Order: sequence, then C-alpha cells, then structure tokens
Amino acid sequence: MMHIKQLVTTITQQLQPLYDEREAAAVAYLYLQTKLGMQRYELVLHGQESVGAQIMAEIEHDVEKLKEGCPVQYVLGETEFYGMTFNVSPAVLIPRQETEELVQMVIERYKGQNVRIWDVGTGSGCIAVSLAKMLPDAEVFATDVSEDALAVARSNAQRNGVGVTFARHDMRDTDHFPFDGTRFDVVVSNPPYIPASDRATMHRNVTDYEPSLALFVPDEDKLWCYKAVAELGRRVLNISGRIYVETYHDFHNELTELFQQHGYTDAQSFKDLNGWLRFVTCGR
Ligand code: GLN
Repeated sequence: MMHIKQLVTTITQQLQPLYDEREAAAVAYLYLQTKLGMQRYELVLHGQESVGAQIMAEIEHDVEKLKEGCPVQYVLGETEFYGMTFNVSPAVLIPRQETEELVQMVIERYKGQNVRIWDVGTGSGCIAVSLAKMLPDAEVFATDVSEDALAVARSNAQRNGVGVTFARHDMRDTDHFPFDGTRFDVVVSNPPYIPASDRATMHRNVTDYEPSLALFVPDEDKLWCYKAVAELGRRVLNISGRIYVETYHDFHNELTELFQQHGYTDAQSFKDLNGWLRFVTCGR
C-alpha cells in the first residue's frame, strides 16, 4: 500500500530522467490532483492516507505512459483552459496559456455585444468554447480540417454547456464557406505556426505526441495559414469586422505587412505575459 505522500515522491522521481525536478513535481501534483479529485493542499493534508488497489493499478498504468513522455494532459484526457475543463486527445493540440490571452483580447473588445465569431482551426475548441461561455450574446462558429479534432471540440462545447456551430473546413479552401452567406464581426485563429526546422529543438513530449498538423508549417511557406485567414476574412468579415490571431514572435513584421497587403487597416501586435510578441489584430 502506498500513501499519497509516497505517491507524489515516487512519481516525481520516476519522471526525473524526463523533466527537471520542479517540472516533474508539477506533473506529479497535476496528475494526482486530477486523478484523485483533490486540490493540491488536500494531497498534503491527506498525505498519510492510502489509495485503493483499483485506483493504484490505474495510476501505475498511467505513470508508465508519463515515463514514456506522454503529456500529462493526454494521460488524464483533460486540461484546464480559461477556468474551464476541456477534453483533449492526441487528435488535438493541448491548449496553451498564451491562447487564454488571445481569448481575453476578444472578450474585452466584445463584452456584452451580439457579435458573430468564427474560430478558424479550432482544434480542441478551446477558443470557440471559452468565447461562447464568456460572451453569451455572441454567436460562435468554428471549423477544423480534422474530423477527429471536431469530435473533441463538440464534446467540449457540450461539457461546458455552450452552443457552438461546428463544421469541417480546410482553411486553404477560400472558395467554399461552411456557413455560406454568414457574415462575421470577428475571425479568430491560433493556427499552426512553428517552422518545421524548429522541431529538432523542441521537447520530445511535444513532437512525439501532439499532432504535427496542428503545430508545424513548412519553412518556405511559414505564413500560409495567416494568408488563408486573411483571404477568408476579406470574404466574410463585416465592414467593421476584425481579425485576431496568435503567432510566432519572429513573424510580426511580416505578418502585419501581410494583413496590410490584403487591405486590412490598423494592424497591431501585442506581447504575451512572457514578454514575447504573440498576437496580431487588424480591422477590415
Ligand atoms: N485553436 C486551437 C488552440 O488554440 C488549436 C490550435 C492548433 O491546433 N494550432 O489550441
């Protein structure tokens, strides 16, 4: 029988070849909190209690996956984003903290307004679902090229009790619109933007587990997703409509130029909380 305190220590130790001590402990705590349905302090408070044999068997099985490098969010099948819980599977990118700031920008600008929003490349649906939750007067639409991702996104709308209209759509296809005739006030997107050549410098638990389709773009056409978003925006945005995108810190000059070339005005870049230029917004 193992006590909760021993579990924290053992899992942290077992993950140390993979992560540094702080990160290993963070993963161990996050895993056990979710698995046991406890707050972090409760793991300490109940440190001398032991867990049942059935749960223990499940934990051992999960720890094997964690040791192989599988991200804890995939092992748990869920993660937190904007104060809500989202289902995740290897069909979708794990929502990132920076993306909460993108959501925040849209919420601040459109709070209380009856606007129509399209989330292009919705993945887990984290952007679309949190916008629908926080902007109850808005109508939210979301697309992805992957049916598997859409299934996860739909489950997240349901799990968080919001209505989002989903459709499969390849953003490259600027001739066919999934919601024909619908005009939008906001097009928001956190598309794939990591140049493929960066793969070599990234952590194995990202590159081996998260969908390449959601992460990488070819070095020779790094901005293709933003071109697609810009072209879609020209067709579907209202006169006063705006684009909000997340991007790579290196892309800002090129990206603001790209939007200007597509006829957009007022292109502005914003930094994330870590001080990296991360978001671009522009008006139609
Ligand atoms: N929009 C989703 C997110 O922000 C998916 C992003 C992606 O797969 N590139 O997490």
